[in-house]
Amino acid sequence: LFVSFEGIDGSGKSTQARRLAEVLRAMGHEVVLTREPGGSPGAEEIRALVLQGDPDRWSAETELLLFTAARRDHLERTIRPALAAGKIVLCDRFADSTRMYQGLSRGDLRASVDALHALVIGQEPDLTLLIDMDPAAALSRAKARATVEERFEDFGQDLQDRMRAGFLALAQEFPDRIRVIDGTRDETAVAADVMATVSAALPV
Ligand code: C5P
Repeated sequence: LFVSFEGIDGSGKSTQARRLAEVLRAMGHEVVLTREPGGSPGAEEIRALVLQGDPDRWSAETELLLFTAARRDHLERTIRPALAAGKIVLCDRFADSTRMYQGLSRGDLRASVDALHALVIGQEPDLTLLIDMDPAAALSRAKARATVEERFEDFGQDLQDRMRAGFLALAQEFPDRIRVIDGTRDETAVAADVMATVSAALPV
């Protein structure tokens, strides 16, 4: 089972992915908790190349190619071997983040994102949990924990609003795969909702 978590910065998806991993492990499942950009040694190197240093170093197109290369490595080295071994893979961001960040926010590259995805990735999660929340609340959370590693320190409200709308539109585009979870509630309530949604998809 391959599950991805998506949402705007500060939506709480990383916390929810971690909590779900703990609960599933306690149930006896073998779980690989991973993340993008990154998730394999090579992909983590690409993450550092793109997210650290001068934000204008790469064009939007080059950034798309780098993140797609990172995803390919992550798939080959981490995700596919884990799935082949029968493990549950929980991934903090996957291709939907590229559809949003490189496809929507940094340029109008959605067609290129889709073409590259079809060419070299060709895999979607079985289930995607979109942790949806009010951008103003997400913004204060994201700012509270922003690290020097992240180049996106100046999260604008406008961009966050566009991203939220973009993610919700993606959920309509992929209704069979993406479930929208209300992330504005407290962490435990969101975790219960996440677990209920994933339970239905668990191998028996
Ligand atoms: O999810 P995480 O906080 O690790 O993401 C790090 C940064 O990379 C975020 O600020 C996000 O906006 C950015 N990002 C991106 N393109 C992606 C995925 C993440 O620009 N495809």
